[in-house]
Amino acid sequence: MIERSMVKILVLDDESFMLKLLARMLANQGFTSVTLCESGRAALDRVDGVDIRPNLILLDLNMPEMDGIEFVRHLVERNYTGSLILISGEDERMLQTVEKLVQAHKITVLGHIHKPVKPEALSTLLEKWAPSALDSPRTAQKVYGAEEVRAAINNGELVNYYQPKVTVATGKVAGVETLVRWRHPVHGIVPPDQFIGVAEANGLIDDLTRVVLTSALAQAKAWQEAGLTLRVAVNVSMDSLTSLDFLDFVTGLTAKIGVPPQDIVLEVTESQLMGDARIPLEILTRLRLKRFRLSIDDFGTGHSSLAQLRDIPFDELKIDQGFVHRAWTVETLRAMYDASLALARQLGMEVVAEGVEDRDDWDLLLRTGCDLAQGTFISRPMLAADLPGWMEGWQERVRNGFTNDITR
Ligand code: C2E
Ligand code: CA
Ligand code: CA
Repeated sequence: MIERSMVKILVLDDESFMLKLLARMLANQGFTSVTLCESGRAALDRVDGVDIRPNLILLDLNMPEMDGIEFVRHLVERNYTGSLILISGEDERMLQTVEKLVQAHKITVLGHIHKPVKPEALSTLLEKWAPSALDSPRTAQKVYGAEEVRAAINNGELVNYYQPKVTVATGKVAGVETLVRWRHPVHGIVPPDQFIGVAEANGLIDDLTRVVLTSALAQAKAWQEAGLTLRVAVNVSMDSLTSLDFLDFVTGLTAKIGVPPQDIVLEVTESQLMGDARIPLEILTRLRLKRFRLSIDDFGTGHSSLAQLRDIPFDELKIDQGFVHRAWTVETLRAMYDASLALARQLGMEVVAEGVEDRDDWDLLLRTGCDLAQGTFISRPMLAADLPGWMEGWQERVRNGFTNDITR
């Protein structure tokens, strides 16, 4: 039995009699927090609201202004962490497709109900509701203010984690990707998804990139001095590339610390709002001239496109994890994985597959000749101090052909 008082329900349907009917059914089943909305706009205002943010939405697909699918897209933009129940008069196949579509956005769908709605069908789905891991105490931390993020950057609360990138054919560790975390004095380790967006939206991303890059370069130097040859990758959002200062900063710092530019990889993602593309293009091209390596990140997703590939001289292409994990068995994913790999090959780029989570993923890379792999099968991101120990274990696993792995 679920705790009914915890469920904050929002019902969105353009027909007012349906709203009343559903409200009655919900009340009969003991749900007390129920908000009714007749339009997607009104519902989004509730989702944006501070007081009662819904954690379960009953969504009608067929609505005249904003339809249900468009509404879901807006939920994704808002990082909605609750669940959904789809309601529609459409046929089963259509409902299944929409359910997949929503799940692909990482939103939990408890199921779908055909109209006319039967109370039993509704109660069966409602019983499946569970508080989302993201929805519990962490949601409160989910949205940080610009000032908090600014302070974190200035007070040295950002810590670099590093995730290995390994050569598939040999198992050799080729490099690491720097992934920033925020060591929050109260909330502990906060993942980047919870503050990078805030930094980008508030003109702080440039400062953040500089802090991350500075420690990554120092670390690269330390590894170099310890006899480890590792390429160190840093994430750079296009937002940091709007002023030529960035170019001077990167080249100046690299020279000062004394790391060869060929060992520095800049993983570039396109930002939501691309203004004048000439400056980023100039910066990237000049960095390439100075032998920094450029990588196109999240290739295949909305923010990383063919046009970028045409316009910018990238050395490396990272196939987004959404096309890698389980590509060995899901036909659509496989088609996209193969196409990305072929494209990179044809353009003479090195290919990294992200999201390699298990042996089956790894084997696909091996069979298809992908250059580099990154993902939890190899290692999660870790502190620099943990890298040498991890490397020993990894080399052991490679030697044994992963036969002693317990996880599958
Ligand atoms: P990204 O650049 O695509 O980084 C890969 C993300 O996938 C990382 O998440 C990593 O921890 C995660 N990951 C690694 N292996 C696996 C796997 O096998 N399966 C799955 N499902 N995920 C895996 P993380 O560290 O939370 O970073 C999220 C995003 O935040 C990064 O995505 C990157 O876009 C951004 N980011 C991180 N550090 C920085 C930074 O210093 N600057 C900027 N601008 N963005 C950063
Ligand atoms: Ca990246
Ligand atoms: Ca990526």
